[in-house]
Amino acid sequence: MTGRQRLAVLGATGSIGVSTLDVVARHPERFEVVALTGHRRLDVLEAQCRRHRPRYAVVGAEADAKLLGARLAGLGTEVLAGQAALDEVAALDEVDTVMAAIVGAAGLSPTLAAVRAGKKVLLANKEALVMAGAVFMAEVSRRGTPLLPIDSEHNAVFQSLPRGFDGNLAGCGVRKILLTASGGPFRATPIEALARVTPEQACAHPNWVMGRKISVDSATMMNKGLEVIEARWLFNAMPDQIDVVIHPESVIHSLVQYVDGSVLAQLGNPDMRTPIAHALAYPERIEAGVAPLDLFEIGRLNFERPDLKRFPCLSLAFQALRAGGNAPAVLNAANEVAVQAFLEGRLAYPDIARVIAAALDEVPCVSAGTLEAVLAADSAGRAAAQHALARAGR
Ligand code: NAD
Ligand code: MG
Repeated sequence: MTGRQRLAVLGATGSIGVSTLDVVARHPERFEVVALTGHRRLDVLEAQCRRHRPRYAVVGAEADAKLLGARLAGLGTEVLAGQAALDEVAALDEVDTVMAAIVGAAGLSPTLAAVRAGKKVLLANKEALVMAGAVFMAEVSRRGTPLLPIDSEHNAVFQSLPRGFDGNLAGCGVRKILLTASGGPFRATPIEALARVTPEQACAHPNWVMGRKISVDSATMMNKGLEVIEARWLFNAMPDQIDVVIHPESVIHSLVQYVDGSVLAQLGNPDMRTPIAHALAYPERIEAGVAPLDLFEIGRLNFERPDLKRFPCLSLAFQALRAGGNAPAVLNAANEVAVQAFLEGRLAYPDIARVIAAALDEVPCVSAGTLEAVLAADSAGRAAAQHALARAGR
């Protein structure tokens, strides 16, 4: 790439977005910010626009676009609103690279727009791939889109696979992909006590600072379930080629086991700026602002098998992966509804898994080879979760 890499950061105001702009700000000679998007936190987006002077900013609501536009008068940033504007900035001619860091199903459309436009796509928005894996990956191969994983586990796997990996795990001598998981804040909480845990406790992750939705997903281990499905698509892996290992220190970000007995892994402090910097600069390496790993300070690393009674969401994700078709989209949609209800105090923590299981039961499993089918599964999953919520909610 000649000149500076021109970026659109979707979900700039979130945890990944902020970390991305932190890395970008360390390398003004390498990166230029062309577009920033944020749904609601106007103050944060305003400060980011002043700092990075993008050509475009996108917010959720028209009224907020007017407000922000007035505040940014004279800066040269055009403020737009809504879904169509997100899709538009993701596909702009003057953008080389799109950081897809919107949370949830809302990120699917602009991420797919970036893929279709052949941008280099840095994928944090795992839900897009979970929902629409077949459609998404078909577009990636049709367009030859460079797709780089930001999720720390998948970034670690990417780094541990041979350079230029072509989607043939067996052909590269890979036996298994081992995804590590911290086990979240409730790894050792007595199972009976889980009925009373609060959103604040669920969001207090021991190792990572993240948005609230993914924090709850980490507590239930649905996050790992979504990541198993994400790995299936990113690395063309069969369900039996993916194992989950609980590793409470979050230092080994994931591993690849080869047929000759070798196991390659990527390690580092738990800081998302490492995978972000890796993907931004790939195949080069740049400073990320992350402290070097101090093995003497860490001392020891631990591993455990996940307890599926404690983490039923992990089983549900494997069940959806094996069922295939629209099941992962239903799983994802029901999870979004259940997590939102839990965060709003309308659902007890153990009922998150029950709501998702009920939605998977209710919605018939059909193929999901088109975007229309994916969106229908998303709606059906949400509706089924709402029915289950009405039964289980408080
Ligand atoms: P976050 O909640 O901190 O930020 C989400 C961003 O999406 C914000 O900018 C918000 O304005 C935007 N957004 C929310 N709803 C939107 C909507 N309806 N339309 C448009 N924009 C919307 O979330 P996060 O922790 O930064 O996570 C972002 C994505 O990255 C998620 O898919 C998550 O699973 C993934 N991820 C995050 C981490 C992490 O450490 N935070 C690690 C791995 C993967
Ligand atoms: Mg992850």
